[in-house]
Amino acid sequence: MAKPMEQYTWRDIPIGCVVDEPGNARQYKTGDWKSQRPVVDTAKCIKCGVCWVFCPDAAIYKNEEGHYLANLDYCKGCGICARECWTGCITMVEEEK
Ligand code: SF4
Ligand code: SF4
Repeated sequence: MAKPMEQYTWRDIPIGCVVDEPGNARQYKTGDWKSQRPVVDTAKCIKCGVCWVFCPDAAIYKNEEGHYLANLDYCKGCGICARECWTGCITMVEEEK
């Protein structure tokens, strides 16, 4: 018979956990969690890539013009890129949906 939930501890969690299949992280659109999103003013961006270095979710990519933009499917809206961008060309705005 199963124990009540409050009696479980972390030791009861099975060792090792793979959700679905290995290497499937791209299938999960973690960007749905965000409440804000970064908007880049490409006229002010100097294409240095600092935002790319600091993004903890590897959600920033370089487009064909060499600008660094957030992939909103994976960006969690933490705002680190906006804080680290030394030209101040990233603004965090409220997510609309
Ligand atoms: S807001 Fe956070 S997760 Fe989104 S691109 Fe910037 S640093 Fe990455
Ligand atoms: S840190 Fe700012 S200036 Fe540098 S690439 Fe990113 S958005 Fe552009």
